[in-house]
Amino acid sequence: MINFDYIKPATQKAAIDALNKDATSQFIAGGTNLVDLMKRGVVSPQKLIDINNLPLKSIEQQKGFIRIGALTLNSDVAEHELIRKKLPLLSQALKAGASPQLRNMATVGGNMMQRTRCPYFYDTTMPCNKRQPGTGCGALKGYNRMHAILGASDKCIAVHPSDMCVALTALDATVVISSRKGDRRIPFADFHRLPGTTPEKDNNLQRGEMITAIEVPDNNEFSKKALYIKIRDRASYAFALISVAAALDIKGNTIQNARLAMGGVAHKPWRLTGAENFLKGKTASLENFNQAAAISMKDAKGYGYNNFKLKLAPNTIVQTLKTV
Ligand code: SF4
Repeated sequence: MINFDYIKPATQKAAIDALNKDATSQFIAGGTNLVDLMKRGVVSPQKLIDINNLPLKSIEQQKGFIRIGALTLNSDVAEHELIRKKLPLLSQALKAGASPQLRNMATVGGNMMQRTRCPYFYDTTMPCNKRQPGTGCGALKGYNRMHAILGASDKCIAVHPSDMCVALTALDATVVISSRKGDRRIPFADFHRLPGTTPEKDNNLQRGEMITAIEVPDNNEFSKKALYIKIRDRASYAFALISVAAALDIKGNTIQNARLAMGGVAHKPWRLTGAENFLKGKTASLENFNQAAAISMKDAKGYGYNNFKLKLAPNTIVQTLKTV
């Protein structure tokens, strides 16, 4: 491991100032991904700004939404009464992620900022456009079993590893970002990026900015029928091969509204807008669920070892819609 400086500011302003002052600095909170990346030489910040002293650990009911501070632990969010009652999809997705030990360390903001688990990204002897732009993509013609089937490019076929982010995408959350210029808000679905020609950029956070909170609409209609299904190689402590977050607002047997997103399929949590639009006003039937899955898979493409996902993904969508 390389040497680095370490500071622990007491205020948000001091933390943001420190980040702006030093281009080689990086925030650290739970460190559950960053420390691994540093140990393996994938990233080498020369200064770590520990933000654990900042007062960003809170879960508050606001008018029409629940505000979750960026430093709130994954385990605290998952078990909080307000979240379990009003945002069960988020609670389920968080509990499906990592292990209890990791959830006790990992923060909401850190979960959003975690890097892909593509093995070529972590192996510094292999080509990887995300780690070192212009070196090529080892996974494109390599062992790509865990990789993307939607929204990929010839520069990168990695997937985003988070479960929490899939639920937040489905639930129309908003990201609150702070900087020296003040606060700005962006829809959660626009926070993470597709790889395109710049796979080194995972998200749209700009240099000098800090994630300070997530705001999630507490839409009652989507709290009654909500389900997160995660298909993985082990029962726990494994990343998703495919995951589906679904929340349905159903009256009688008619779907009034649907919220759907998938994980394990793309460089960002993948919102199934086409399927949502199709399901609106339709009967909750197997035929319509199959059709919604087919719409979602329209542009899907396999890269060899991950071709099995082309079947697993629509099957998981249908299974989730049947079960929710
Ligand atoms: Fe790197 Fe992306 Fe290719 Fe993986 S898929 S080797 S992260 S460029």
